[in-house]
Amino acid sequence: MTLRLFNSLTRQLEDFAPLVGNEARVYTCGPTVYNYQHIGNMRAYVFADTLGRALRFKGYDLKHVINITDVGHLTSDADAGDDKMEKAAAAQGKTAWDIAKFYQADFETDLARLNIRPTDHPRATDYVEAMIDWAKSIADKHCYVLEGGLYFDTSTVPNYGRLARANTDDGQSRIDPVPGKRHATDFAIWRTTPPGEKRQMEWDSPWGRGAPGWHLECSVMSGAILGFPFDIHTGGIDHREIHHPCEIAQNQAHEHSADSGARIWMHNNFLIDRRGKMSKSSGEFLRLQTLVDKGFHPLAYRMMCLQAHYRSEMEFTWEGLAAAFTRLKRIYKDFEGLRIRNHDVARETWQFFEFGEGSYRRNPRQLIGFEKPLNYLTEFESAICDDLNTAKALTFMEKAIRDKELTLADRIRVGSLMDACLGLGLTTARRSNLRLMPNSIKSEYAGLDNKDVTSLIRARKVFKKLRRFEDADTIKTLLVKVGVEVMDGDPLGWDWKLDI
Ligand code: AMP
Ligand code: ZN
Repeated sequence: MTLRLFNSLTRQLEDFAPLVGNEARVYTCGPTVYNYQHIGNMRAYVFADTLGRALRFKGYDLKHVINITDVGHLTSDADAGDDKMEKAAAAQGKTAWDIAKFYQADFETDLARLNIRPTDHPRATDYVEAMIDWAKSIADKHCYVLEGGLYFDTSTVPNYGRLARANTDDGQSRIDPVPGKRHATDFAIWRTTPPGEKRQMEWDSPWGRGAPGWHLECSVMSGAILGFPFDIHTGGIDHREIHHPCEIAQNQAHEHSADSGARIWMHNNFLIDRRGKMSKSSGEFLRLQTLVDKGFHPLAYRMMCLQAHYRSEMEFTWEGLAAAFTRLKRIYKDFEGLRIRNHDVARETWQFFEFGEGSYRRNPRQLIGFEKPLNYLTEFESAICDDLNTAKALTFMEKAIRDKELTLADRIRVGSLMDACLGLGLTTARRSNLRLMPNSIKSEYAGLDNKDVTSLIRARKVFKKLRRFEDADTIKTLLVKVGVEVMDGDPLGWDWKLDI
């Protein structure tokens, strides 16, 4: 069965096959580390991770890079505004370097919480020399100098904007704040520091002291780490309009080729809320931590992402998240039941999926020994091969885990194999891990933690057994006051949840 992926370049589904050997090489545009990532940003990485997992599931080796943009990204993608890093540094009274370090660490914590595989995270500031070399190599034929720095002339490469389906001279859709630019779509590849100003992050170059343009970073890092042409380049759908067309133009100039540098360009659609696209500059800024503070496990958000197709807009609602969390708990409950009943198979299976150096230590497809032919696996695989239809794949995983006609060992094996692709952490985490500290308890009883709540619930049960109903009710009233809903007779066996 062939993996088919939607290529934004051709706007078509295409068969995937690695360009070289058995290795899939994937580059994902990473975060600009001037602020926390919101959950919309994290959707982009859940998608990229699921893609990487699907490639491993299909038996390919995987080299995956998610870069860190720690310099060069202006407040507008189209060369306007201030440098995001410098602006954040000034606002917070810290150095740009400290800001980058802090938010990179926070980003990496969120990646781990979403069960996103460890990958290479190169920082743009470590590649500035390579960027200058790259710019030098294309400056004569493809660039011109303005007061603000070195600009790329987009008319010097074939089909600029093919990815965005935009016209080269479409000045209407692009703000053009730089006097002297030859075409509205031309962009800075080196930004010279204005005379009399000093930036925290700046380097010497043939075009004066300054900093690289944001688009240049991704061309240079992807080329240096993966080599051109590589297999797949991913990012959020906003990158289809400016950032990626600019990367492609640079790649074409540097490689003396009409090719884009990557064979397939893939874009996840936006996370939206009632006000529209979630963004750092407008709307409600929800971090993964905000969800955790309300008692939702981060993997509930991963589940929510998997329930939608990556190319569809996904609307965030708290009700939707709660439903995804319930579904996740149910899967955990069923799978943990299987694991408890057959430790040996669970342990042996888990070893297949242990991560090492950013990839599975073993190819998951080497997992052998199913006792019955598994139609579920075929159906799961065909859903994944259909441009990562994770919503459909999830239903096959649930069915397989729950099918009592299968042996216990098969249910564990097939569940583990499917989860290696979906990344919900079934093989390692336990149901009790989903229970989070209720940080959002902020009433007069604030200070109660997970353990306190559990003890109170237990005490209430004892009182009920002793038929001391008044005491039991007193405890219930207290819990309700701090925002804890007591769940008598919950079919999933949960004693309580945060009342949100
Ligand atoms: P940034 O840190 O702004 O460079 O964005 C990091 C990644 O998140 C990029 O791939 C963006 O395209 C993506 N992104 C930004 N906003 C959203 C959103 N609301 N939904 C999904 N992806 C987004
Ligand atoms: Zn990028």
